[in-house]
Amino acid sequence: MSVLIFIDQAEGHVKKASLEAITYGAAIAAQLNTTAEGVVLGTTHEDLAGLGKYGVKKIHHVNNEALNNFDAQVFTKVIAQAVEASSATIVVFSNNVDGKAIAPRLSARLKAGLVAGAVALPDTSNGFVVKKNVFSGKAFANISVTTAIKIISLSPNAYKTVATEGNAEVVPLNAVVDTGKIKITAVHKVSGEISLAEADVVVSGGRGLKGPENWGMIEELAKLLHAATACSRPVADIGWRPHHEHVGQTGLAIAPNLYIAIGISGAIQHLAGVNRSKIIVVINKDPEAPFFKAADYGIVGDIFEVVPKIIEAVKQLK
Ligand SMILES: Cc1cc2nc3c(=O)[nH]c(=O)nc-3n(C[C@H](O)[C@H](O)[C@H](O)COP(=O)(O)OP(=O)(O)OC[C@H]3O[C@@H](n4cnc5c(N)ncnc54)[C@H](O)[C@@H]3O)c2cc1C
Repeated sequence: MSVLIFIDQAEGHVKKASLEAITYGAAIAAQLNTTAEGVVLGTTHEDLAGLGKYGVKKIHHVNNEALNNFDAQVFTKVIAQAVEASSATIVVFSNNVDGKAIAPRLSARLKAGLVAGAVALPDTSNGFVVKKNVFSGKAFANISVTTAIKIISLSPNAYKTVATEGNAEVVPLNAVVDTGKIKITAVHKVSGEISLAEADVVVSGGRGLKGPENWGMIEELAKLLHAATACSRPVADIGWRPHHEHVGQTGLAIAPNLYIAIGISGAIQHLAGVNRSKIIVVINKDPEAPFFKAADYGIVGDIFEVVPKIIEAVKQLK
């Protein structure tokens, strides 16, 4: 028995969300008096042994460059082999794009119960019960998992990464790697931008900006704060901003440490994608804007006066 954590990489670097998943998986292992093991797919630039400081004792490395490009079907089969190699009864993913694609497939393959979007450690006092967000973060559900193998995907930012000391034993895993049914022929990356899904700070604009010509101040503030830029859905629909920046129920769901909403009303569909942010700052001229109810800090004012002042203040602080 062990807890197996899928350690997700981007271009050979472990993603921040995976460090949270490792810390979370290690805490479950400690709770159940067992060991935490990890699985890494593809070539890597990371010091895998060094990931031991997050609590993982052993890492199964499938060092096969065929796994450098993500393919959910291929990855699922390889992770199933890692589950067998580690005799894992609990498998932990981050509930990010990759985790959302693999965990349900693995669940079907292993006939394992899955809790997607966990926000706390399981309660093992009477069975195995995992708390998760439901209804776009409006409520919690406690899900009891009764299958022999249990899969949990952890909501990004729901569990704090803790680094202590220690090294993991890194062992090669000679897994069978299928030829994928999908062939990636080219990758076109958006360069020079901070990835919205992974960003610590996000500066986001809504229809209150009045037009794409006013986005300069959003970009300037984002640059100063090393932030990614985002937008509400109508802004992407009208074509003021690209669709990959649209956050919300029908867009990307994000969980940065700081989300700054500028000229966005805070409709429920928008909140569904951003309400897991740690700190929400809202700037809106309407004191009745619904976003203020979800805000940690709010400024009632005209964005065209307030935002340039914030930019100046940040410049001075720097
Ligand atoms: C099925 C469905 C799914 C949806 N999915 C999403 C989604 O994923 N994401 C999403 O964002 N929306 C989504 N929507 C749309 C959502 O309901 C709202 O219409 C949308 O979020 C509103 O965008 P907004 O806040 O930018 O614009 P508005 O509602 O027009 O709000 C603009 C805000 O800017 C403020 N403002 C205007 N001028 C200034 C100024 N000078 N200074 C300060 N403040 C100013 C106003 O007071 C207002 O609060 C969805 C809707 C449906 C029906």
